[in-house]
Formats: sequence, C-alpha cells, structure tokens
Amino acid sequence: MPHLSGVSVLVSGAGLAGLAAAHDLTAMGADVIVVDARDRVGGRVWTIRDGFAQNQHAEGGGDMIDDAQHEIRALAAELGLTLTRILRGGFGYVRQDDAGRPRMVRRRALRGWTRLAGALDEFIHPYRLAEQRWDSPIVAAIAKRSVASWLDEVRADPELRATATGLRGFFLADPDELSLLALVDQFAATDAWGSLRRIEGGNDRLATALAAPLGSRLHLNTDVVALTHRGRTVRVTVKNARAQSQITCDYVVLALPATTLRRIPIAPSLPSPQHDAIARLKYGRATRTLLQFSRRFWRAPRRPGAFGSPLFFGAVWDGNEEQRGRAGILSLLAGGGASDATQSLVAKEGPRGLAQSLEWLGARGADLVGSKQIVWEQDPHARGGYAYFDPAYDPALRAWLARPFGRLFFAGEHTSIRWQGYMNGAVESGRRAAAEIAAAHHL
Ligand SMILES: Cc1cc2nc3c(=O)[nH]c(=O)nc-3n(C[C@H](O)[C@H](O)[C@H](O)COP(=O)(O)OP(=O)(O)OC[C@H]3O[C@@H](n4cnc5c(N)ncnc54)[C@H](O)[C@@H]3O)c2cc1C
Repeated sequence: MPHLSGVSVLVSGAGLAGLAAAHDLTAMGADVIVVDARDRVGGRVWTIRDGFAQNQHAEGGGDMIDDAQHEIRALAAELGLTLTRILRGGFGYVRQDDAGRPRMVRRRALRGWTRLAGALDEFIHPYRLAEQRWDSPIVAAIAKRSVASWLDEVRADPELRATATGLRGFFLADPDELSLLALVDQFAATDAWGSLRRIEGGNDRLATALAAPLGSRLHLNTDVVALTHRGRTVRVTVKNARAQSQITCDYVVLALPATTLRRIPIAPSLPSPQHDAIARLKYGRATRTLLQFSRRFWRAPRRPGAFGSPLFFGAVWDGNEEQRGRAGILSLLAGGGASDATQSLVAKEGPRGLAQSLEWLGARGADLVGSKQIVWEQDPHARGGYAYFDPAYDPALRAWLARPFGRLFFAGEHTSIRWQGYMNGAVESGRRAAAEIAAAHHL
C-alpha cells in the first residue's frame, strides 16, 4: 500500500464517500481531518430511531444494498457489520383501476420493466457500441430526448407510460424531467442484480464505524465555505457557530453533493467544463415517509413486501422486516412529482391521510403508532435525493464530475459511473479519490 505519512488531507463531507476516503487515507498514514456541516455523520444515510415504538428503526435515506454492490459489502464486512437479506418476494406493482382506486396488479413489476427494456432496444445496441462513452455523439443523440417525448414518439400505451412514471421512485424525476439516456443506461447494464440486503442494526452503523477512529479529527457542525489552492497548498475556509477559520493542507477531497459544492467559491476557479458539469447537475425530489403500524398488515402468503407504483405515494416497502416486535414500519419513497403530491397530502391530512391511501395493502383499521417524514429537497446539506440527468445536461460533461483538479479530488455518489445514486457509488468514489491522491502524490 502506498504511504502518505506526513501528508495532510482535508475531507469535506462525512457521508459514505468522505468517510470511505478518510478510512483509506488514514490507513495509508495520511493526517486526515474530516468536516461536515451536519451534527451527525452519514449524510444521506440516516437511520431514524426516534419516535418509533418497540425500539424499531428504519432508513430515512439509503436503504437497500444489492448483492452486486461489492465495494460497500466488502467495507461492511471489514468493519464487522452484518448484512441481512430483505424483500425476498421481490417487487409487486400497484396502479389505478378504472374507478381511480389503487390496486395491486398480479404481474410483478419485473414484467413492466421487461416491456420497457424491449421498447428501448433500438437505443441499447448503439449505446453498447459506444461502449457507454458519454462523449460519443450516439450518447448525445439519446440524451437530448426526455423519457416523456420518447413515450410520445413510440405512441406508448397507458401501461408502458405508467411503468415509466413508476420509475420516478427510482430516478426521482418524472418522465418529462428525465433524459432518455438515464433509462437506456439502466437497461443496458449487463451485470445481474441479485438479492437485497440492509445492515443489521441500521445502515448508519457503517458511517459511525468509519467515523469512530477519527476521534477529534472529525469536525461536525462545520461548513466548508471557500477554497483557495496555490502551488502545493490548499487553504480551506470553514465556519462553525462560533467562528470562521482557515485550515491549510496538502490535498482536499470534496465529497459533497454537487448542490452544495457549487455554492463554494474556489480560487483559482475550476476549468469551465468542470464548473458547468457541477453547476448543471440536477437532483431529484424525494420524500421518504416512514409509517409505523401496530401490526404488519401487509404481510400475506405469496405477496411481495415491496411495490413500485406510478401513484402519488410512490414506492412502498417493508422498512424493517428484519426487526423484532409485532409492530412494523412501512417505508414510502415518493420521487419527482410524487414527492410534491405526498407533501401536500400530509400538509392537509397529516400522516394519517397517507396511511389511509394504503387501503389496497390492507391498512383499513390499522393503528398508526409512529411516523417520520424527510423531504430531501428541503434538506440544506443535500438539496435533493440524488443526482439525475435531465435532457439539457450535456453527457460529455459527466467525466468532469470525478476529474481531479490540481490538489482537489472529487468524490460522492454523483461522481460514480456504474453506481451513481447508490451508497455503493459513494463508497467506491471515496476509495477512488483516496487512491488517486496516493497515486498523484507518488508521481
Ligand atoms: C430517499 C433516498 C433513498 C435512497 N435509497 C437508496 C437505496 O436504497 N440504496 C442505495 O444504495 N442508495 C440509496 N440512496 C442514495 C444514497 O443514500 C446516496 O447515494 C449516498 O448516501 C450518498 O453519499 P455521499 O457521501 O455521496 O453524499 P452525502 O451522504 O450527501 O454526504 C455528503 C456530506 O457532505 C455534507 N456537506 C454538504 N455541504 C457541505 C459543506 N458546505 N460543508 C461541509 N459539509 C457539507 C453533508 O452534510 C453530508 O453529510 C438513497 C438516497 C435517498 C435520499
């Protein structure tokens, strides 16, 4: 392993990307400081433990870990954390019936996705020919269409449109906001998805285990507000409730979402395509509602524990099947327009109104005993759920999101190619940034 003793690195952001970078840099002997604006580590990984009966908890942000996501699984194993298998029954699907009521449909969500993938075939082959290089004109031509305009072009039937709308629970963007490229990229991926897991005791245990060895080198409630980099030195201006001060170091890892990174003045400024890549990236609206009921009425033989839907409440799944107790938590993820709709319903009728919209799952008469709602687009340190590509985003800019500039290195979910939007992408990007510093330092 390359050595970085005597080298100082400031990691900005204590989400999984920043913490993974700090873990690897510390292992290489660097002097690492981590700063985060929040009063906790984990960022968009946030296990909610308060307000639920029977000591239960559920995830307010990143929840499911797929078997194919090796980087996060390896890191969790290294830290002695156990991953529990969840949602063995896969995903079902809910849509409106002719009378306008939500109804579970027999076919699995997979069937709708297979139809969608089939309809995208004409793009998937050329996309593969471009070897997924986002600077290819093939990719540019796909990228400038929205999913909605493509659905119009192919005269999609209502079922195909509903399936595409349902994907806002995944991309956090409605068909008119999302570039067709996002769908093509998703369906062109060849690595098979496996079973789903979450970390026993809460996904935040990964963040707290990574943060523990940092001790006083972790500064919470501290914002990075400006950066200057000249020669071999980077000067980082940080601000907490009491004062503004400067930290000087050899390298910086910027593991912040693009939404907050673009508000930080950097001198000398980033190359203009890099500036644009960061400035123009969109983040999806995402409202997570956790509803705890006195009993798990949604469980039934041969019924899946998770449902996609194009409806206003978004995707719904069992949020804590692995935990003991008669009570149970349903996790609702409303992306894009569903995020707005869920918020307005809850503003008018409270979480009970939302619980009532789950009658199709057997919620009638069930006792709501706890609830929590997190609106990620209103979170000042995230300003959205995760990144998505809209039709106005020039795909050739994407490579700039992860490109080092001088002594500044970039990490975060949005910089990952294969696992953008995932916890695995965050971990992988942090480890990549650490390895890049080691490589650059020894050039
Ligand atoms: C609702 C929701 C559901 C999700 N579901 C899943 C899922 O099921 N599976 C999955 O794999 N992923 C999921 N994700 C995505 C996953 O949570 C993220 O991709 C990942 O956690 C991002 O990590 P990160 O380190 O890149 O960013 P973050 O976790 O956002 O970390 C960045 C940190 O930077 C800090 N910060 C911001 N600005 C400043 C500043 N100026 N100064 C100092 N600090 C600052 C923030 O406070 C934050 O802690 C979900 C996300 C959301 C929101």
